[in-house]
Amino acid sequence: MSLALVSHSTYLDHDEPSHPECAARLRSINSAIAADTQLSALLQPLEPRRATDAEILAVHQAGLLHQLEHMAADGGDWADPETYVLPNSVEIARLAAGGALAAVSAVLDQRVDQAFALIRPPGHHATPSTAMGFCLFNNAAIAAQFARDQYGLERVAILDWDVHHGNGTQDIFENDPHVLYISTHGWPLWPGTGHWREMGGQAGAGSILNLPLPPLTGDMGFDMAFRQVIAPAIQSFRPQLLIVSAGYDAHIQDPLGSLAVSTAGYANLAAIVYNLAAEVCDGRLVGLLEGGYNLEALAHSVVATLRTWLQLPHGASAHAATHIPEPDLTPLINALRAAHPLVQR
Ligand SMILES: [Zn+2]
Repeated sequence: MSLALVSHSTYLDHDEPSHPECAARLRSINSAIAADTQLSALLQPLEPRRATDAEILAVHQAGLLHQLEHMAADGGDWADPETYVLPNSVEIARLAAGGALAAVSAVLDQRVDQAFALIRPPGHHATPSTAMGFCLFNNAAIAAQFARDQYGLERVAILDWDVHHGNGTQDIFENDPHVLYISTHGWPLWPGTGHWREMGGQAGAGSILNLPLPPLTGDMGFDMAFRQVIAPAIQSFRPQLLIVSAGYDAHIQDPLGSLAVSTAGYANLAAIVYNLAAEVCDGRLVGLLEGGYNLEALAHSVVATLRTWLQLPHGASAHAATHIPEPDLTPLINALRAAHPLVQR
């Protein structure tokens, strides 16, 4: 087994130190990986590249690219009240999207079995026309569309375990039957989209699968949701590539999230997606960093994910969170079983 890790020091240059989405996030992850000599010896370093205009415009409107380039050229601005654009941010966002593309190519060219890209700014809130929620370009969507356009894949799945709904990814693919978008997210929580009844528009009917989770859903609820809803959906859809929008803000220690996943819980999710990829798409699995704002929880959870994908013990002790009583997900699971074309039985 082999696992590529995309990283680049330029990703540290998009930085507003007082903002939750700051370069300290990556520094924390990089230190934790470096400290784990067993892990770092096994990772295959992979250089990102710049995504081209054409690759970005395959999912975004030209107006968004021009707006962001103007903001950057004018010395920087805020794309929305919480999304900063510095003079170098658009170039860095190109390198983030290109890091996702490098990861997809490495896997689809069979140079490695899996890949994980430590990229930022994150992407899943960026819609076709709008940068928002810390995100400039939608890295996962650009990667999925690239796999379709350049490798001719018929079916790609994006599984988004960030605590926030990836409204941008959903917007981009809601009418596209070739890309399945699955999201687990806190509910209620910003941005407020992602009701379980949102299943994709006419042509894409059933290619959106949302699991809005009540506050304090933790390891047990996630395990149930992954095994009883997400696994059957992926088994029915049979993607040829599985992309994980890997946000770590569903962690119990995260300051922005409302859910209660432990580090060991994230390792469990990583194992489930690894096994699903092995079952349906010869193990082709690409992880892309999204959110995660408690520096320690973020770093440990990324390490636990990478170790799991390398079939090493994840090393995280089960957190006390697993013993907090959790909300009952049975009504949500039953609703999706009754209504969602990929989950119905
Ligand atoms: Zn998030």
